[in-house]
Amino acid sequence: MSVFDSLVGQDHVVEVLEVAAHDAAIEPAGPTMTHAWLFIGPPGSGRSNAAIAFGAALVCPQAGCGVCEDCVAVLSGNHPDVEVVRPEGLSYKTEEARNLVGRADMAPTRARWHVIVLEDADRLTESANNVLLKSIEEPASRTVWLLCAPSVEDLLPTVRSRCQVVGLRTPATDAVAAFLQSQGVDPGTAAFAARASMGHIGRARALATIESVRNRRHDVLIMMRDLSDLASCMAAAGNIVEAAKADAEAMLSEREETERSDMLLALGAGAEGKGIKRVTKAALKDLEDRQSARRNRAVRDELDRVLVDLLAWFRDVLALQEEAPVELVNEEMRVDLERMADESSTADTLLRITAIRDARQALSMNVAPQLAMEAMVVKLRAPRLAGR
Ligand SMILES: [Zn+2]
Repeated sequence: MSVFDSLVGQDHVVEVLEVAAHDAAIEPAGPTMTHAWLFIGPPGSGRSNAAIAFGAALVCPQAGCGVCEDCVAVLSGNHPDVEVVRPEGLSYKTEEARNLVGRADMAPTRARWHVIVLEDADRLTESANNVLLKSIEEPASRTVWLLCAPSVEDLLPTVRSRCQVVGLRTPATDAVAAFLQSQGVDPGTAAFAARASMGHIGRARALATIESVRNRRHDVLIMMRDLSDLASCMAAAGNIVEAAKADAEAMLSEREETERSDMLLALGAGAEGKGIKRVTKAALKDLEDRQSARRNRAVRDELDRVLVDLLAWFRDVLALQEEAPVELVNEEMRVDLERMADESSTADTLLRITAIRDARQALSMNVAPQLAMEAMVVKLRAPRLAGR
C-alpha cells in the first residue's frame, strides 16, 4: 500500500516522487528534494491528485504509506500542514496570492514540511504570478510549493524556471478501465467509460458512476445526427449548455452541501431557520458567492468536455471515411457514425472539427457559452455554407 496507488498509468512519475519523498525525510534533505515542483499534464491526467499524493508522502513519517494518520488526513483534505488551493473564480486574484504568500511563510504545525498545492496555476494573473514569485524563489525553510498546470508554457518563465517539473501522461485506456474496476465498477461499464473519457480520469469516473452524466453525453451525441433546420440548431446549442450545467451540478452539489453544513457547524448554528444570526448569514452569503463563482467555472470546464466528446464523434466519422485502422471512441454508436460517414465528405468532417476547435477557443476567451455554441452548431449543420 502506498499513497501513490491512486495514480493511474503514471509509473514513470511515481518512481521520481518516491525517491524525493525519501530524500525529504532525512536531515538535511537529500539532493532530489526541492522546494518548488510543477506538476504538468493534460486535463484529467490527475496532476492535482499526484501533487496531493506527493504532499502526503512529504508529511508521512514513512514517506507515503497511505494508511497512517497523516496520509489519511491529507487525502481527505484535513491535514493542517497540507493546504490545497484552487482559484475561486476564473482566475487567481492578486489579493488571493498575497494571502497565500502570508500563509506560506508559516512553519508546519506537526509535520516536517508545510506543503501548498496550487491547483490551476495557469489561472494566475500576471500580477498574482509576480506576488508568488518571491515566495517560490526564496521559500521559508520548511515550505514546499506544488504547482499544477496543463503545460510549462502556461506559467511565466520566471516561475517555471524555479520549479522541478513532473510530467504526467494521458493514461492509457486499459489503465483507466483497470482503475475503475478496482473502484468496484463492472468491467463493461469500466471499458465504455475509459474509452469515452479518452483518458480523463474525473470524466471516466463520472461516466462510470453517474447515470445522468452518461445519459446527457449520449443525448448530445445523438443531437449531432439531427441538425436539420436552424430552429433545431438553436435548440441544440441551448441543450449543450444545459447539459454542461447539469453535469457541473451533479459533480458539485454534494461538495457544496458539505461546505454549507461544515460552516454552520463551525459557527455553532446547528440547524437552519429564522434563528440564524447575522454573522452566520454574512458568512453563508460569502460561501454562496464563492460557490457560485466556482460553479460558473465548472460549467465552462464541463462545456469544454462536451466539446471534446463532439470532437471524438467527428474523429470517429473521419476514421470511418478514411478507413483508418483505429478503435472508435464511440463504438457503441457505430451505426450512426457509419451513416454520417456515408452521407458527408471528408472535407465536411474536417470543417466540422475546425468549428468545434473554434468554439473551444472562443470559450477560453470568455465568449458567452450560449453564443459560442450557437455559432458552432450552425457550422456543424452546414459546414461549407458557413465557411464562406
Ligand atoms: Zn503515511
